[in-house]
Amino acid sequence: MSSPRIEVDLSKIRHNTRTIVERLKARGIHVTGVTKAVCGHPAIAQAMLDGGAAGLAEARLSNVRRLRKAEITCPITLIRTPMLSQAEDVVQVCEASYNTELTVISALAVAAIRQKKVHEVILMIEMGDLREGILPQDLGGIAQQVVDMPGVALKGIGANFACLSGVAPTATKMQDLSDLVKNIEGRCGSVLQAVSGGNSANLPWALGELPIGRINDLRIGEAILLGVDPVSGNQIGGMYRDAFTLFAEVIETNAKPLSPPISFANPVLAKLHLVPEIETGERAILAIGLQDTDISGLSLPLGNTFIGATSDHLILGTKLETRRLGSEMRFKMNYSALMRAMAAPDVQTNLLHDRPAPDVRDSHGPNKHLALV
Ligand SMILES: *Cc1c(COP(=O)(O)O)cnc(C)c1O
Repeated sequence: MSSPRIEVDLSKIRHNTRTIVERLKARGIHVTGVTKAVCGHPAIAQAMLDGGAAGLAEARLSNVRRLRKAEITCPITLIRTPMLSQAEDVVQVCEASYNTELTVISALAVAAIRQKKVHEVILMIEMGDLREGILPQDLGGIAQQVVDMPGVALKGIGANFACLSGVAPTATKMQDLSDLVKNIEGRCGSVLQAVSGGNSANLPWALGELPIGRINDLRIGEAILLGVDPVSGNQIGGMYRDAFTLFAEVIETNAKPLSPPISFANPVLAKLHLVPEIETGERAILAIGLQDTDISGLSLPLGNTFIGATSDHLILGTKLETRRLGSEMRFKMNYSALMRAMAAPDVQTNLLHDRPAPDVRDSHGPNKHLALV
């Protein structure tokens, strides 16, 4: 088996998706599975769909093409505002896209007419994260222009929270988003089919007690993949946190002085120095580095300490035992480590439980009760 590699337990992805889908269904919200952190890996996308995701969302066209090549035919929405230069391709492979620029929407419309299609547009609204989005006061006018534009259809509106700012959405913000829906519908005379409230950071709000208003969709990546609430980093009850495991191989185990030897210019001083200054510690060097992942996002196995990392090496201090040369160590990854490792050409992906068990619902999770713990 090649190293470094990521083992992906697809049954855990299916379980995590199903757990969120079922809880949100009770609140009238469906789940769009976001595959960008796994570079649109088709089997992981399929596991999200098997777990009940209503569709998929991607940030990059290259990943969408990868999904389409694997014959994933479900609706795919582009969640990063399309590049003006890619309008033609966006219409070709995505049913819908999130948009913030009228110039881009016009280009999508021209492409859609040429391809004899209608491209669906969701307008992204700026609600405080200060990343992408139309300002609420400009929304009505832009929505009207999209409604009047042949080649595109206004499918809905959406907002995004906690990406740039890290600030979780509040109940007030979510109410504001619902109010905007009513404004647009009043002004344009059409009913919005999709109101996408945000990403994994919205789960504490969505699974709470407060009314959800008009929100009927969330775009969920991190919570499905890693089983955590991205804002607090806390595990979501009932979800697996270990669907992904990174493996790397030990390539050197020699003990090295922990600090460089001190040379005393004065021999008298050296003789006085009775306690040996040069400690030795067991070290392991692993064949993985900054080019493969975000090393600071790895959870080290118990008993190991981080000494350093370079482009191709990870150096750990290990007190408990001497690591055997050629053996593997396993690591859990945070979002940043996962995203980089999935995109790294030298990190293989190994799939476990590729096929869903027939008629067996994945009810073997840590517990069925979904709450933030
Ligand atoms: C990345 C992204 C998501 C998914 O975020 P997660 O935290 O992984 O759930 C949703 N919407 C947009 C616009 C994004 O860029």
